[in-house]
Amino acid sequence: MNEDERNKNRMSNKVVNYVGFIDAPLNAKDLYPYNSKVGGSPVWMAQPPAKYSHIKCTECSGDMAFLMQLYAPLDHLPQFERSYYLFVCHKCNATRQGWKLIKSMERPRQGYNEYEEEEEEYDEDEEEEEEVQEKVVQNDTKNENGDDDDDWGVEDGDDWGLSGKTDNNNNNNNIDELLMKRDKMLKEEQAKKKEQKNNKQSTSTSSTSTTNTSSTETSPLEGFVTPSDPSNQYKECYVTIEEEVIKQQKMHGGGKGGKHGYVDDHSEMEEWSGESYEYVKDRAFSKFIKRINHYPEQVIRYGFGGEPLCMSQAGNQMFDVKTAYACKRCGKNKVFEFQVVSTIITQISHNKDVSSLDFSNLFALTCPNHCYDVGSDVHNDVIYVEELLLVEKSI
Ligand SMILES: [Zn+2]
Ligand SMILES: [Zn+2]
Repeated sequence: MNEDERNKNRMSNKVVNYVGFIDAPLNAKDLYPYNSKVGGSPVWMAQPPAKYSHIKCTECSGDMAFLMQLYAPLDHLPQFERSYYLFVCHKCNATRQGWKLIKSMERPRQGYNEYEEEEEEYDEDEEEEEEVQEKVVQNDTKNENGDDDDDWGVEDGDDWGLSGKTDNNNNNNNIDELLMKRDKMLKEEQAKKKEQKNNKQSTSTSSTSTTNTSSTETSPLEGFVTPSDPSNQYKECYVTIEEEVIKQQKMHGGGKGGKHGYVDDHSEMEEWSGESYEYVKDRAFSKFIKRINHYPEQVIRYGFGGEPLCMSQAGNQMFDVKTAYACKRCGKNKVFEFQVVSTIITQISHNKDVSSLDFSNLFALTCPNHCYDVGSDVHNDVIYVEELLLVEKSI
């Protein structure tokens, strides 16, 4: 592939945005680390370090409540599964100190994602981390050649008929596809459990082991829930995620616009019609409302490396000086990954009568190199990195 072709591919590699919604109450059988959900207890990938079994607010020392868990695997990072865990202190939630965002990563489990690339040692030094990056680039290249679109190495990927769904081979985060694979996996898992139960009728342990994670019967998707977890304060519900499709707005000037009444280029949405500008003084707020109105129930917006959607000019200013959020390890500017919208405040219910949360948006930023410290961030083969969460104050 020559340089031109490569650049062309890179340019077309657009960020796909996803929106997340709060769904039905969670079935207790579905307690997996690869689920997205609000409330309940965090389902960790393995028993976490002691400091995460009872998280206290650094500001007031009060118990923090677990707000949500977001499963966020990335196509360009097939060597890791990723989930986020978000905690809040009710007293201090208006400031950054009142929140804790923990990113967790682990190697894909056997029997779940059969990603069979060379097994690398966890003990990698800085140089080897760079090697991982190189490998990512190699994978990209492979995709661009059209050899193999299946970074996740799931053999029957085509059976889902999804490979033709994407009209190019760029590395968008195809969450839909991943969710389907996961759902299939969960179904198989449940069927297997049922079978086991029928066969044995004795060991009726719950699907999520609370103590014995090293059991030989551990399922490939099993997680860890801290017993008597004080952060369990919100009603537990599924979070469903879908791709954000922006319907074409009323045409101004007429003529151009999506062929089918849709635009897939978000930059078009950034444009401002003179009309709106006349009516609305606060540009940021109006832009926010317009975008949210496409999916008014959304509580999460996801787009790795995409744009945060702020509600206010003050919010936008948080992203003005990007160097302020450089990764301590590699020095790269952190990138936007997802935001929690204030619409969540009225859609979640706390099991006590606490004062409601008070913010406009929460923005999760992460290092584009996915850095972590081999010495201090790995526990039971799982990586834990506390990520930056910016709080846009309510207006
Ligand atoms: Zn606090
Ligand atoms: Zn970094």
